[in-house]
Order: sequence, then structure tokens, then C-alpha cells
Amino acid sequence: MALPTYEVIALKMGELYVDKSTLTYARDFGTKLWIPIWAAAIVGNGLKIVVDTGIHDAQWVNDHIDPCRQADDERMEAALKQAVGWTPDEVDIVINTHLHYDHCGTNPLFRNARFYVHKQEWLHAFNPIPSQRWIYEDTRFLYDSRGVNYFQWQFVDDMAEVAPGIKLIHTPGHSPGQQTVLVNTKEGVLAIAADISNLVENINDGVPPGILSDMAQCYESQAKIRAVADRILPGHDPSIEKYQNSGFPLIRK
Ligand SMILES: [Zn+2]
Ligand SMILES: [Zn+2]
Repeated sequence: MALPTYEVIALKMGELYVDKSTLTYARDFGTKLWIPIWAAAIVGNGLKIVVDTGIHDAQWVNDHIDPCRQADDERMEAALKQAVGWTPDEVDIVINTHLHYDHCGTNPLFRNARFYVHKQEWLHAFNPIPSQRWIYEDTRFLYDSRGVNYFQWQFVDDMAEVAPGIKLIHTPGHSPGQQTVLVNTKEGVLAIAADISNLVENINDGVPPGILSDMAQCYESQAKIRAVADRILPGHDPSIEKYQNSGFPLIRK
């Protein structure tokens, strides 16, 4: 039987002002740019799925991490309503590609969802390598028992099939437990790749992200995505449009 196809809608969760070299390893030091934070809604097969949940508080991010701005319709509840007409309570499944503060910020809103995270990401979030402490340690309340009931978590071991036509693959390197979501769409397999490919440039030029847990794993993870996916929704690429739902960038083979 043919796999079902799904529609993926890009949800913009605000913007960060960063040095480009944090996105593309050793490339374009000193170039500053505003980058979107992408989350996504997946619709189809009777399911309501959200991939990543943005930031919890633009002002807090601005004060503690990087300059940050967020339009009213870039808050999760407003973006979801606008994109697909859902309330957070209606969402069945939330997938966290990883637990950096800009990918799990509104987890506590999704009170009825099952949450998917890679087991290694979970362990790393509570005991990160020193270079990544700043990305995890002040925002654990978004995913520990204060944010999400432990019984709602599904810990992924290497791969998981979330539903027919939606798969998780382990793509470490930016963080040890980052996973990429592969979605069967009418335009082929779309990889929701988060920060293993911050920009389209990362996957198509073979450039690791600037924030790394393991350089060699980055190359392997990008090759893995290249081998199985046709298109990509990167974690922070400004070329994606708010609410874009088709025509995502092609992965160069
Ligand atoms: Zn990240
Ligand atoms: Zn990110």
C-alpha cells in the first residue's frame, strides 16, 4: 500500500541576530544577520503534529542569549491558529529535533501531546558538554517535569516511525541527540533537519554548523540526509517563507 502523504507548513517563531559563522562553520566570520527560528506543523492521515516549539519568551532570549524579536503572529498559539487552525490542546504529537532553547520553548503548551525526543539528547540536556551549557541550562523547565509530564515522553533509540510516512533518524553533530524528521509529501521526502543544516547552504555545500558537539558526526549526518531526502526545511534559513507549505529547497545530490 502506498504511504500517505502529508502537508508540512513552516511556522516562524521569531528571529535571532547572530554571527553567520555560528550557522556555517568558519565561514563568513563577522557577518551579522537576522535569522528566523523555524518550527513546523505536519497535517495529514488524521494527525496533528508539531515539530519543534520555538522560544518561550523573546524578551528573555534577547536579555540572556542573542538579540531577538518576535511579531505577534510568530508566537506559537497565534502561528498554529493561522497556519492550521489548531489549538495546542488538539495537537497529538510534538517532535523535538533537539532540546536547545529555540526548539522546545513552548513545549508546556501542548498538554495532551506525546513528545518524541532522542534518548541521547535527553541525557545530554541534563549533562551537556561545557561549550553547550549556555544553550541548555537555564531552560530545562521547558522539558523537565515542570514543563512536560514525564509520562508524555517517548524516548527514541536510533530511529522511529511516528506514523506511516513520518520517520525520525538520528543526525548528531550539532548536538549529540539531534534527530531529523523525514516526511513523505507530494513533492518527495522532506527533511525537517533543524540545526544540522541551519541554512540550505550547510547541506548543499557540505558545511557543518558553527555550533558543534562533533564535527565528524556532522558530515555523516548530512550525508545520511542527502541519501534519503529530496527537499529540506532547514532550522534557520531566511529564504523560507512564513507559512510556506510547498516548494521547499531541493537537496543537491
Ligand atoms: Zn540547536
Ligand atoms: Zn536552532
